[in-house]
Amino acid sequence: MTEALDILVTKVERSKLNEMNFDELPFGRYFTDHMLEADYENGEWKNVEIKPYQPLLMEPSMAALHYGQAIFEGIKAYKDENSNAFIFRPYDNLRRFNLSAERMNMPTVPEEIFIEGMRRLIALDKNWIPQRKDYALYIRPVMFSTDQFLGVRPSETYKFLIILSPTGPYFAAPMKILVEEKYTRAAPGGVGFSKNAGNYGGSLRAATDAREKGYDQVLWTDAFEHKWLQEVGMMNVMFIIGNTAITPSLDEGTILNGVTRDSVMTILREMGMEVEERKINIDEVMDAYKNGTLKEVFGTGTAAVIAPIKELRYKDHVMQFDTTAWKIAPAVKARLSAIREGKADDVYNWLVRI
Ligand SMILES: *Cc1c(COP(=O)(O)O)cnc(C)c1O
Repeated sequence: MTEALDILVTKVERSKLNEMNFDELPFGRYFTDHMLEADYENGEWKNVEIKPYQPLLMEPSMAALHYGQAIFEGIKAYKDENSNAFIFRPYDNLRRFNLSAERMNMPTVPEEIFIEGMRRLIALDKNWIPQRKDYALYIRPVMFSTDQFLGVRPSETYKFLIILSPTGPYFAAPMKILVEEKYTRAAPGGVGFSKNAGNYGGSLRAATDAREKGYDQVLWTDAFEHKWLQEVGMMNVMFIIGNTAITPSLDEGTILNGVTRDSVMTILREMGMEVEERKINIDEVMDAYKNGTLKEVFGTGTAAVIAPIKELRYKDHVMQFDTTAWKIAPAVKARLSAIREGKADDVYNWLVRI
């Protein structure tokens, strides 16, 4: 592809890998030896560099801190039994990253920096990819504005980084979820479809309030009626009703186009289920619960892959599920793992070899 990409590589003098205890790997806590960095200036990306993971220098006036031009991605890399390393669907993340960039009035990042840079960085830190079942290397690309200027306008300079974090099995304990009726995550015309930092900042108050009521997260609803379902916390949501899987559609731009959502829909169809992307409201979910056709409700996202919901509460209505009796979510998860681990054929071309 791109031998042309000129990357200055500076290696660490001593790897931190020996100090790592892979039995204790909380999500997002530890970072590998190296990172990728690039700067946008005068209309072009330059200084593409791989160097030791290290702090950044910034001025207090740095634009991103004040006006929030900041976007990111979350991707995973795995190793198969023969130590071959693969990245899962990174081109989908590249596409989404650049959609987020456009919405936030930021420059796009070229494929050769995003994909080829990522491959070279991971190749250098390959020994950090845990070769254990359900372990992975979490990849975090991020871009933010770096102008040193207090004035509201799109920044003229940006920094793009990729950092890597080894992660253990993300045990997704079945969640208790509260249907949100006060706060709003996204409205048509807003930024809900983009993976920008502010969406997360704006969601924390709702999650904390839900936790105080004994719930793990909220199920976001539309801004006008608080009835139409959007996402569960920072994951897409899937309802299994009868033999149909229903997930909110992307049409209004209020929902993130999850790569896991798409992978799960593909596998559900492969399993012979009907899959519908459409508007779905809480009344339909409650009716299905009452007539016994609502079988499973779960979140989907790169970190947890599939997160089952054991309790869903809307006003005074409580819907409970025996997640241990579920058939569909575990089958989807197993099929996805088999593809990722190279135990099943990569029929959808999801794996990019390093
Ligand atoms: C990242 C994210 C998801 C999940 O997307 P994946 O590509 O499956 O990881 C879902 N919703 C929100 C709001 C997100 O930020």
